[in-house]
Parts: sequence; C-alpha cells; structure tokens
Amino acid sequence: MALAHILGVPRIGPNRELKFAQEACWRGEIDEAALQAVGSGIRQANWQRQHAAGLAFVTVGDFAFYDQMLNHVALLGCAPARFGFGATVGLREYFELARGNAACHAMEMTKWFDTNYHYLVPELRPDTGFSLGTDWLFDEVTEAQTAGFVPKPVLIGPLSFLWLAKEKTAGFDRLDLLDRLLPVYAQILARLKAQGVEWVQIDEPILALDLPAPWRAAFERAYHHLNAAGLKLLLASYFGPLRENLLVALKLPVAGVHVDCVRGGDELAQVVDWLPATKVLSAGVIDGRNIWKTDLAAVLDRFEGLHRRLGDRLWLAPSCSLLHVPVSLASETRLDPELRTWLAFADEKIVALATLKTAFNAGRHAVARELADNAQALASRRASPRVHDAAVGARVAALTPAHDVRNSPFAVRQAAQRARFRLPAFPTTTIGSFPQTAEIRSARARYRKDQLSEAGYAAAMQREIAHAVARQEALGLDVLVHGEAERNDMVEYFGEQLAGFAFSQTGWVQSYGSRCVKPPIIYGDVSRPHPMTVGWTVYAQSLTARPMKGMLTGPVTMLQWSFVRDDQPRAATALQIALAIRDEVADLEAAGIGIIQIDEPAYREGLPLRRADWPAYLDWASRAFRISASGVDDATQIHTHMCYSEFNDILPAIAAMDADVITIETSRSDMELLRGFGDFSYPNEIGPGVYDIHSPRVPSTAEMTRLLDKAVEVIAPEKLWVNPDCGLKTRGWPETEAALSNMVEAAQRLRQQHGDRAAAGAESGVLA
Ligand code: GLN
Ligand code: ZN
Repeated sequence: MALAHILGVPRIGPNRELKFAQEACWRGEIDEAALQAVGSGIRQANWQRQHAAGLAFVTVGDFAFYDQMLNHVALLGCAPARFGFGATVGLREYFELARGNAACHAMEMTKWFDTNYHYLVPELRPDTGFSLGTDWLFDEVTEAQTAGFVPKPVLIGPLSFLWLAKEKTAGFDRLDLLDRLLPVYAQILARLKAQGVEWVQIDEPILALDLPAPWRAAFERAYHHLNAAGLKLLLASYFGPLRENLLVALKLPVAGVHVDCVRGGDELAQVVDWLPATKVLSAGVIDGRNIWKTDLAAVLDRFEGLHRRLGDRLWLAPSCSLLHVPVSLASETRLDPELRTWLAFADEKIVALATLKTAFNAGRHAVARELADNAQALASRRASPRVHDAAVGARVAALTPAHDVRNSPFAVRQAAQRARFRLPAFPTTTIGSFPQTAEIRSARARYRKDQLSEAGYAAAMQREIAHAVARQEALGLDVLVHGEAERNDMVEYFGEQLAGFAFSQTGWVQSYGSRCVKPPIIYGDVSRPHPMTVGWTVYAQSLTARPMKGMLTGPVTMLQWSFVRDDQPRAATALQIALAIRDEVADLEAAGIGIIQIDEPAYREGLPLRRADWPAYLDWASRAFRISASGVDDATQIHTHMCYSEFNDILPAIAAMDADVITIETSRSDMELLRGFGDFSYPNEIGPGVYDIHSPRVPSTAEMTRLLDKAVEVIAPEKLWVNPDCGLKTRGWPETEAALSNMVEAAQRLRQQHGDRAAAGAESGVLA
C-alpha cells in the first residue's frame, strides 16, 4: 500500500484571509486572538482537505503567521539579541522581528532558494544560544490531534537552518554552532514523541545545493544525534537533484527519504539502488513549483514497478511544499475554460495525489474516470492551437547568429549615439516609473470596472505623462521617461498584451509576510499581436525636445516572474518572448524613439541552484536579451536595468548582454557593488544608483556627490550615468522631486570637476 502525503500547503487561505487578518492586526483593528482564530481556521481547513483526500497524515508546522524560518527562530529560542526579547517570543515580538520596531530594524529578508518566496534570515553570532522557545509547533500538533487528525510535524533541518542563516560578526563559522543546536532539535523531537507523534518530516533542501565538504560531512553527525530521539524521521530534499549529495542523504540514519522526482527525476534509479532495504522512499511526483496538471498515467507507468518492489515503503508526494502554487482553482471563473482544464493549483494537486494513491493500491480501474479525464486534459493541451502557433515556431527556427549581435561593436555605437544625443557628461536619467498616485490607481480601477471609458482613461494617463514630462524638464534631467503611469506591474502590463499569457483572478502566492503575488501563466507560444508601448511613448516624446526613453520588460524577467510552460525548455519560452520584445523595440525605433530600456531585474535570480548549471543558463539568458535588443541601428541606444543583485560573479554574462548602458542598484552597498564592474573593466556605459528609492528619505547633494566620487574611482568618468537605484513608483512626488533635484545638482558638480565629454566627443571629429 503506497501512502500519500504532502510536504506543506499554502497558508494564505483561499481568499488571502491571512493577509487581511495580519494587516488588520498590525493596524490595531483586530486583536491577537482574532488573528489566531483566522490562523486556526486556515490550518483546520487545510488539514480537513488532506484528511478528506485520504492522505496518511496532516502536515503540521507548515503554517506561519509570517514566515517558516522565523517560526524556527522562535521555536529554537534564537531571536536576535539586539531586540532584547529573551528565549520565548509572543506574536507581538514575532512581528517586530519581521517588521522592525522603533528601536530595531527588521531582520533581513532574502529569497528562498530559487523561488519567489522570501524568508527572514536568522542572525548568528559566536555566542548565539539555542533553547526550546515558543510552543506554537507543539500547540498545533495538539490542535490537529484534538480535531481527530494524525499529525506529521515538519521541521527545517538543523543544517539547512544554519546554512540559510547569516553570521553577523566576522571570524566565525556558523557551522560551529551545530553542536549547540542539535540538543535543542533533540528536545523538540522528544517533546513531539511524548505527544504521540510517529513521523516527523525534516526538510534539508540544501541537499540540492553545492555544499562545502564540512557541511556535507556534518549531516551524518547531526542525524545520528537526532535519530537517538526514537522518532521516525523523513528527511526531505527538494528543488533539485541530489548529485554528489545523494549518498550523504541516503545513508543517513533516518527512517525515510523524500526526493524531488520532478527536478531530480534523472537520478531516481540511483536513489532506488542506494535506498537501504528498511527505508521509506517518498517520491515527489507532482510538480510543487508549477501549476500544470500532472500526467498521472506517466507517473503510474514510471512507478508501478517500483511500487511492486517497495510496497508500503513507497510514499507519494508533491515534489516540494505547495507553498509556491496558488490555493485553488475553485474561484477561477474567468479563465479560458479549456486552459482551466490543464491547470492544478494546490487543492487540485492534493486531489491528483489521492487519485494516484488509489491507482497504485487498487489498480488503475478504480480511478478509471479520473485517469481518463486527466489524459483528455493533457491531450487537449498537447494538441491545442491555443498553445501552438506555427508562425512563432518558424520564426524561432529561422533565428541566425546575426539576430543576436548589434551591427557594430560598442565603440562605434557609442560614437554614433554621442553624435546623435549630445548629452552632457554624467547624463542624468531615472529608471522608468514615477509615483503611482492614488488618482492613477483609481483611474485604472475605474477603467477595469468599465466605470471609465477608454478615451477617459487615455486622457487621464496622458495628463499623468504630461505632468511627469513637465516635472522632469523643470528638474533638468537629460534623458526623460514617460513615467509608466499606465502600468500596474512590469510583467502583467506586457503579459496582458501578448499572446500565450493568461491571468488568474485569485492565483495568489505568498511572496513574504502578508505580501502575495499573482504570477501570469505562460501557456502557449508567445507573440505580440500589436504594439504595446508605442502610443504612450510617442505621446511623451511629442511633449519634449529631450530624448524620451522607451521602457520595456526583458524576456528573462517575464519568464522568471511567471508560471512557465513545462512542455518545452524555459530557454525556448525565453526566445519567444525575446522575439516579441524585439518587435516592440523595432516599432519604438521606427516611431523615432532613440533610447530604449529593457529591464532585467530578475536576470540574476534566474540562476540555477548549482554552479555547474550556470553557464548554460547565462548563455541562453544573455542570448534572449540580445535577441530582444539587437535589431536596432547603431545610433539607437539600448539600456538595461537590474536591481537588488550581487553582480560580481556574473559580470561576464552581464557584459555579454551588450546593452549600451546598464543602470544598477548600488547606493545601499555604498557603491561596493560597483567595484566589481571596475575590476572586470566592464566595457559599456553604466549608471550606478546614487540613491535608495526604498525609503522616503531625501538624500542630500553632498551624499550623492560622495557616492559619485566613489564611482569615479572605479569607472572612467566618461562612462558614468547618474540615476536613482530603481523606479520611483512607490514614492510620493514631493520627496521624488526633492531627491531628483539634488541628484541633478550632484551631476552638475561632477561635470564642473571632470569637464564635459559631449564637447570633447564633438571636437574629436569621430562622429561627423
Ligand atoms: N522600469 C521599472 C520601474 O521603474 C523597473 C522596475 C524594477 O527594476 N523592478 O518601475
Ligand atoms: Zn530596479
């Protein structure tokens, strides 16, 4: 008898109940008890669903009022000492750790592996102590038992916990804290055992990463220690193949191992070979990272033999926690009905898991109808003309090496562009968006609800554009933008106009805390039926004699922030998007727009988890960008923009994009991020952000001048642009104008100091 279980479910609730309750609690509109009641309701509903589907357990410990890593900080009694909270925190302190308070800034947040979920980073010091802290996990176990369920608690394993944490002082190694941490894990396990728990799932997702030898070696010691508690431990790895960590994982003294058979499917045979005869194998057969229906017959074909061999030692599961997919398709009434049949959100994945379990245990005939429906949905998806557009295929097939190189090398383009635009030295610009005011948002909302006509909406947006252009001229900026008033979101805006993209109504996924995102669904071949930005940009250009930058989102970012097709490689989808952007670039150029920015803020976050896989990714990612950008004349200037990134280890791949100008976020690192560009001798022009747009604080001219002085130390002055870190859509106008005015003044000071390159360029005569 194969068992079925899940590693975790979304905790936001089907209608984002958790978000609304959290935010109401933070505003003081509801008390903690009311928030607790919402949390309990979400947990009960989740468990009920797992129970109803016939899963062997309900998973407990996947719920969190903010973040699962922060729950572990509370559980392990290691809240950063700077908050002064002691070993046990309550909900109020917990939220202060996440969001900061008057005296302490919030804990840092960073991306959870290669997902778009962000966790709070535990802070470690040589003297960090651990102890049994907050009781929530144990309370939830009791809560599940009281409701009549069999709980399988889930913990983040000690090695992943330490790996994902950060050393807050130099000169010590957080792995040294393991010996202090293990006894607390042992205490947790002992307490769970006393509560009558049989199985505990311990997640060690770092097994899918390149690990230094001491970390790999530490696994055995750690799990010997934990095994002594006498509970059955299921060691869960996910998000990728185990590779050189495979033996480490399979030889650990635990009762079972979960592996990701979606991303790590190639090594299944090896896993089975090495699986000790007593261990359970939990096979992650349903993709927990994407929203497509699983091919149930294919899973049965692949695993039936194994099931005969392993019997009840084979467990079935999604590949990872379902945290990364939306809750339910139930309320999707507006999705195209055919497309809807191809999808499975968390609830539907749980049902599919139950179907698989029955098929394994009672034979395929026992779920013949479910299997037939599944096969039909998959067949319709494979054959659908909605998915396959022969013209797109032909265009991709016809791509030649000439499509992803500009006509001339950078030096020639640079000369042509200088002759054309005659910008001063240290040209000033912004990253694209200007404040999204309440009026803008209300106009968009009314337009969407048909309360504002198309013409009324266009007029409102034109007024915003005219306002932004007038403000920029008054400030004396050199390269202007139209302000992106008409854009709700930098991916959605384009996705809504491209063929091959669909949008759910309630497909929310937690990003961090109470923040959720609703990623577009790329289901078919991508093409661009009509221009997407030309009208707004040309209107903006008509209002000014200064160059107006066209603003686009790049192919890698569109891919990275969407649910992507699983029936072709990501690279293939990226190429299709790149061609659609290329069309838009061509139309902008033809309409007289001489400077075009293609944003790629997600370029770095697309990096695979394993370094060995980086070159292949960077190769297709940079090619996709170049395909989108290379169809233009030498005198058309291509910009790109990236933010919140460590760039140093991918500089060659950034240079390989061959944008004429790149703007990056550097102010918060005090220009340290720029140093790498200098050391690498980054060949093209570069605009290091001189002020942080994440705060309403207005930096002084002196501050920005100091940052620019630092920039001049590492980058030749004639290559430097002056701009903020990122777009200004979350800011208000008053602070935006004040900051930009100081920024323009800083650029003027630099010009006085270093001379004006436009004059120099004109005199040199290269350009005539
Ligand atoms: N052009 C976009 C903006 O200014 C860029 C946003 C981003 O990089 N995340 O809003
Ligand atoms: Zn940015």
